[in-house]
Amino acid sequence: MTSTTPTLPVFSLAGRTAIVTGGAQGIGEAIVTGLRDSGARVFICDINDEAGETTAERLGVEFVAADVTDSAAVEAAFDHVVSTAGRIDIAVNNAGIVHNHPSESLSDHDWRKVLAVNLDGVFHCCRAAGSRMLAQGGGSIVNTGSMSGHISNFPQPQAAYNAAKAGVIHLTKSLAGEWSGRGVRVNSVSPGYVGTELTQRGMDNEEWRRAWLAGTPMNRVATPAEIAPAVVFLASDAAAFCTGTDLVVDGGYTVW
Ligand code: NAD
Repeated sequence: MTSTTPTLPVFSLAGRTAIVTGGAQGIGEAIVTGLRDSGARVFICDINDEAGETTAERLGVEFVAADVTDSAAVEAAFDHVVSTAGRIDIAVNNAGIVHNHPSESLSDHDWRKVLAVNLDGVFHCCRAAGSRMLAQGGGSIVNTGSMSGHISNFPQPQAAYNAAKAGVIHLTKSLAGEWSGRGVRVNSVSPGYVGTELTQRGMDNEEWRRAWLAGTPMNRVATPAEIAPAVVFLASDAAAFCTGTDLVVDGGYTVW
């Protein structure tokens, strides 16, 4: 049976303005595409100016530069979106890095760097988005967590990343408790292994790749495009009663 109505109206993001951190490539780029295709006006926010500008031009969206570890730069990026588009309805706080190193010799610098981008950065963006959304009367925040916020990956050591992602999931719940009564929903999406630059080193390592696939009941990694619809759903009115939830999209990795 064919349908002439491909999308239920509650999934439409027409008239909404969105910002996606880490939107220059990988999962973020797919999220930008999904939000755009659902009708939103989208701003890519990324530390990588060149890739951000190029991706924005290719996708027909806008770009604003910011390092999410720098709270003043984050505030300036959100100011730019609001002054350009008039409002901010959706914030996808997705920028992240990984660092694989045994914990017994992990340096203070590397621990801090992972926490600074993956947890401090998400808080800076939630605060920038939440304060503006509360003032305008509503909005939807979607943070990128990870299955690593629920489990400890094997065989690669990545304690700082796992701790940061667990922090993102609980930060999400905490902010949902504070803000949902005033119209701002806060949720997270936790991907399993996805084929991006972030996981390329692991996919190139035969031992890691085998373990990743063996640990995933679906026996494959995801494409970025398989993560984006979960974010679009949580950003939209289709998720009007969802807040503080973590939507795991992991091919079953966390069932065992
Ligand atoms: P990626 O490396 O392909 O893209 C990350 C993007 O974030 C890049 O565009 C990069 O320039 C940007 N970025 C990095 N540091 C930044 C900073 N300080 N400020 C602003 N932008 C910054 O990675 P990805 O795989 O697309 O990951 C996106 C998100 O998904 C991350 O939060 C990651 O932890 C999470 N995640 C990824 C996987 C996976 O398997 N790839 C699994 C679970 C969760």
